[in-house]
Amino acid sequence: MKQKKLPPGLHRDTLAVRAALEPSQYGENSEALFLTSGFVQPDSETMAHRFANPQEGYTYGRTSNPTVTSFEQRLAAMEGTEAAIGASTGMGAILMLCLGLLKSGDHVICSRSVFGSTLNLFGKEFAKFGVETSFVSQTDVSEWKRAIRPNTKLLFAETPTNPLTDVCDIQALADLAHNAGALLTVDNCFCSPALQRPAELGADLIIHSGTKHLDGQGRVMAGAICGPSKYIVDVFASIVRTAGMTLSPFNAWVVLKGLETLGIRMQAQSANALALAQWLEAHPSVARVYYPGLASHAQHELAMRQQSGSGAAVVSFDVKGANPEERRRNAFQVIDSTEVLSIATNLGDVKTIVTHPATTSHGRLTEEQRQAAGIGQGLIRVAVGLEHLGDVKADLARGLDRL
Ligand SMILES: *Cc1c(COP(=O)(O)O)cnc(C)c1O
Repeated sequence: MKQKKLPPGLHRDTLAVRAALEPSQYGENSEALFLTSGFVQPDSETMAHRFANPQEGYTYGRTSNPTVTSFEQRLAAMEGTEAAIGASTGMGAILMLCLGLLKSGDHVICSRSVFGSTLNLFGKEFAKFGVETSFVSQTDVSEWKRAIRPNTKLLFAETPTNPLTDVCDIQALADLAHNAGALLTVDNCFCSPALQRPAELGADLIIHSGTKHLDGQGRVMAGAICGPSKYIVDVFASIVRTAGMTLSPFNAWVVLKGLETLGIRMQAQSANALALAQWLEAHPSVARVYYPGLASHAQHELAMRQQSGSGAAVVSFDVKGANPEERRRNAFQVIDSTEVLSIATNLGDVKTIVTHPATTSHGRLTEEQRQAAGIGQGLIRVAVGLEHLGDVKADLARGLDRL
């Protein structure tokens, strides 16, 4: 499994298009798609060796595949970690993380504002196996500190959060984790390594849903964990081989090619998002805008330091209305008046996507839980894509101007 030879010290933008395995004997310029479930061995001795040392050769598709390896090497290069490992989905990556790091009797601290399925995985599924999770404030580090116990093994954060874009201080949480002998994992979906590299701020492990910005065109499901080889190779590789949340080579190939344009997509989509957020903030039918790139955002300065001066590509806003019923009606009217945007639940696509969180991602919560989480009936999330900004504004103005 030879890495392509590249001179040392290359910029991340270069690694995003060049880091991969060596090409095959045919010298293909675009990395090949190895759509095969098995690999023929030269002889029994070699086969035995590779079964015992999976790092040294390919045997079976559940364990590893060259296209998946190229994706892993490229993503690790972009995050600045020693290694990465692919997973079937973002949630598959978080499941791998839990299976690899936690056992009955362990304690986890997790932000209350992380992705809904992550909340369920920790709060419900792993609780069944005797792993207890304390859910704490996204932004108040002192709550994380107070939650630490002698058996705390993992701190889990996601920044910025969905849909309210609250930002946590990665460096402060890393220090806290390390002083307690625990690990910090950061879900880096919203920023991607193009904007935010949690390892540089002290995070031990990084989670990706490749489904989002890494693919970037809404085609395939994928996930990954990035981090030091002592976890990726020694712990997680054997979890994937045993438990089978393997990334398919086809999906790995799509996401590998997606990484080549990640930097320019993140730049362009974030610039569109900032301009849209500024326009929304000035619109008379909008009560409040949530976007880390705005000076009005509560963690604006931290976000600018942590996210390469960018607010990323998701903007949320509250429409005005006298009561929750009216706000929901107004939000539905704005969403249903669009003729260009996609009414869908994904994000990180070049097609702009509009969602009503209170009745979708947060629809299973009670009204009190939703209010505690700050998800009102008037809230609309826009995952900004690459359409011309004038058309996106006009599409939202269709409904907003009639409220
Ligand atoms: C989508 C998402 C996930 C889960 O990823 P899947 O690929 O859908 O399993 C995890 N975290 C965040 C922040 C996400 O947006």
